[in-house]
Amino acid sequence: MTLKPILCASEAQANFAELQQPLTASQARIEASRCLNCFDAPCIHACPTGIDVPSFIGRIAEGRELAAAKLIGEANLLGASCARVCPTQVLCEGACVLKDRDEKPIEIGRLQRHATDAASAAGLRVLGRAAPATGKRVAVIGGGPAGLSCAADLARLGHAVTIVERHAQLGGLNTYGIARYKLTMEDSLEEIRHIKELGIAFRMGVEIGSAAEGQALLKEFDAVFVAIGLGTGNALGIEGESLPGVMDALSFIREVHERPLHEISVGERVVVIGGGNTAIDAATQSARLGAQVTIVYRRTEGDMSAYDFERAIARQDGVRFMFDAVPVAFVAREGRLCAVRIAGLATDIPCDMVLKAIGQSKRADWLARVFPVRDRVFVGGDFANGGREVVNAIGEGRNAAFAIHAALGGSGALPPLQPSRLGMPEPRGAGLVKPVRSHEAERVWRSAPRG
Ligand SMILES: Cc1cc2nc3c(=O)[nH]c(=O)nc-3n(C[C@H](O)[C@H](O)[C@H](O)COP(=O)(O)OP(=O)(O)OC[C@H]3O[C@@H](n4cnc5c(N)ncnc54)[C@H](O)[C@@H]3O)c2cc1C
Ligand code: SF4
Repeated sequence: MTLKPILCASEAQANFAELQQPLTASQARIEASRCLNCFDAPCIHACPTGIDVPSFIGRIAEGRELAAAKLIGEANLLGASCARVCPTQVLCEGACVLKDRDEKPIEIGRLQRHATDAASAAGLRVLGRAAPATGKRVAVIGGGPAGLSCAADLARLGHAVTIVERHAQLGGLNTYGIARYKLTMEDSLEEIRHIKELGIAFRMGVEIGSAAEGQALLKEFDAVFVAIGLGTGNALGIEGESLPGVMDALSFIREVHERPLHEISVGERVVVIGGGNTAIDAATQSARLGAQVTIVYRRTEGDMSAYDFERAIARQDGVRFMFDAVPVAFVAREGRLCAVRIAGLATDIPCDMVLKAIGQSKRADWLARVFPVRDRVFVGGDFANGGREVVNAIGEGRNAAFAIHAALGGSGALPPLQPSRLGMPEPRGAGLVKPVRSHEAERVWRSAPRG
């Protein structure tokens, strides 16, 4: 059967309504007033960009949303995007001390959104202005969150920055990859508009890939920051993978962003293969386009790297899960996909579309090929960390900007970190792996030698 759109425009639009609703002004005040304004707040340490959470929340409690947005913008230049896409449950909100009292953590993400929405409505420049020119030039390869963050901070420090981006639009996966019910392409591009105002130059539609191009950039610029993200989706290497109807989950997700929803072709029965957040996003979005969806994962539910709350969204959307299920072949009838064969299972799973979400390639050879000599080359974001979150990419872009500034002889500028007042060895960014809780911070403080 040929794939075609299932739902009409109004049904599809309704299914993709924004997941997280904004707070009203009074809801925001009430929520903000619950914050304890903790000393050495663990929510700050859990944020890879070190946003001063209690201070911005305090400003919202006082009704000063624009001042709150300025504070957010100082630490994180994509604060509005992060307010919508960050897995706050395992970052700032996961570290909130109220959880220690079995209370609901402060809704930091929604408060951040409240402040950044207010700034956007008021047309406020939260990113400030570029410093006087230093005469140094930096090229940033890749216009995703890491590249944008690095470029904006370099511009704020007075360096002349040029972003080289292979696509026609900026934002990387923040623009093309995030589930559409969390962040639309328009919202991502609107936030980037402010970054453009910092005077950064752009070379759009230019893909860097050879040693000659790398050499030319090093000749023209004083330093280069590489933030090209991950590569294409991995292949399963099983029979029938090239059948029509078997596609990479990322290509499908990108199409959901780029086309009107009622024009997107989707299978009536879709099988998504994988156990990460990309698998969940592919499953929820195909379900919202009207498909019956099954996620097939080779291990147990406990082994899935997708967050609990993401799995809950998928279940709400009616997505079924099959665990300990290893696909061994895609089966065709009359040249078209009709089922997935699972190892050890007597019956094939009928389907007319498969979305593969089994990870992206790491592009390990790119750096060696393009920059065999790397003394003025810096890296960050998914390309360097193997694939984390938007907020990690932003934090790494910012750290790289300050490292490049120092390497170019700049002085006196430090990233506006929120250093641990208790002397935690890792002042921030512990979030995903191990949120720092207040009692742990206190233990470090008590055991620290006193002068
Ligand atoms: C399906 C999916 C859903 C996600 N959902 C979330 C979420 O809900 N929340 C969250 O926080 N994170 C999410 N992430 C992760 C997040 O999107 C990434 O961690 C983040 O975008 C990484 O930013 P980056 O700048 O390192 O890379 P990217 O966003 O990948 O940007 C890289 C940029 O470099 C450009 N580029 C690549 N090669 C070249 C080249 N040779 N020359 C020039 N330009 C080049 C690309 O076109 C792109 O614009 C998701 C990821 C995926 C795949
Ligand atoms: S940990 Fe929770 S209560 Fe404490 S400052 Fe952060 S948001 Fe407020």
